[in-house]
Amino acid sequence: MLKITPYLGILVIIVCVGGIWYPMLGYLVPLVFAAIMITSPFRGRWFCGNLCPRGSFNDFWVSRISMGRRIPSILRSMWIRVPIFLGLMGFMLFRLVQTRGLVELVGTVFVTMCILTTAISLLFGVIISPRAWCSFCPLGTVGRWLGRGKYQLQVDREKCVDCGVCKKVCPMHLEVNEILDKPDCIKCQRCVEACPREALHF
Ligand code: SF4
Ligand code: SF4
Ligand code: SF4
Repeated sequence: MLKITPYLGILVIIVCVGGIWYPMLGYLVPLVFAAIMITSPFRGRWFCGNLCPRGSFNDFWVSRISMGRRIPSILRSMWIRVPIFLGLMGFMLFRLVQTRGLVELVGTVFVTMCILTTAISLLFGVIISPRAWCSFCPLGTVGRWLGRGKYQLQVDREKCVDCGVCKKVCPMHLEVNEILDKPDCIKCQRCVEACPREALHF
């Protein structure tokens, strides 16, 4: 089983810093987008919890300086997510059109998007929670739309004693054992590993 590692997060620094001198590094951004488009229809937001470089950056690096507050549910609402999706995607498309297809300039646009979203992610990660950004990230929102209902976490009600351990370890701060349909579950398996009653599985 693939597992997210701290090393993946270093890619975010490489693209944000190295991309200033070598814009071709920006092409990692559409690769991440493509990976989400391919995996989400089968596994929901699995990519977010297991392979996303920024997810790793948030989990392993931002978590060291995060204030560790609860992610407000408003950040997950479509009232926030749709405008952010349209705003960031619209801005990126506008900049891409201006490049007239020049390969290096296109790379620069992707690097700019990576720097911008990393800055927002870092800010929310520090003042709220490491994965706060992942509650409204446009790519995560696409994953949610494409993968709703896929690869769902199952709760064995006979075994669950409602101890709340799973909710404490969930990086997305979801109601792990209470609601079956969790479209923002990133399939990280942390709740499965932490449950003392082995009541959770995919
Ligand atoms: S929500 Fe966005 S930043 Fe977070 S893990 Fe998914 S794709 Fe990566
Ligand atoms: S950790 Fe396991 S037993 Fe405890 S509330 Fe969650 S599912 Fe139930
Ligand atoms: S519900 Fe479990 S698998 Fe899903 S994000 Fe939370 S901890 Fe990870």
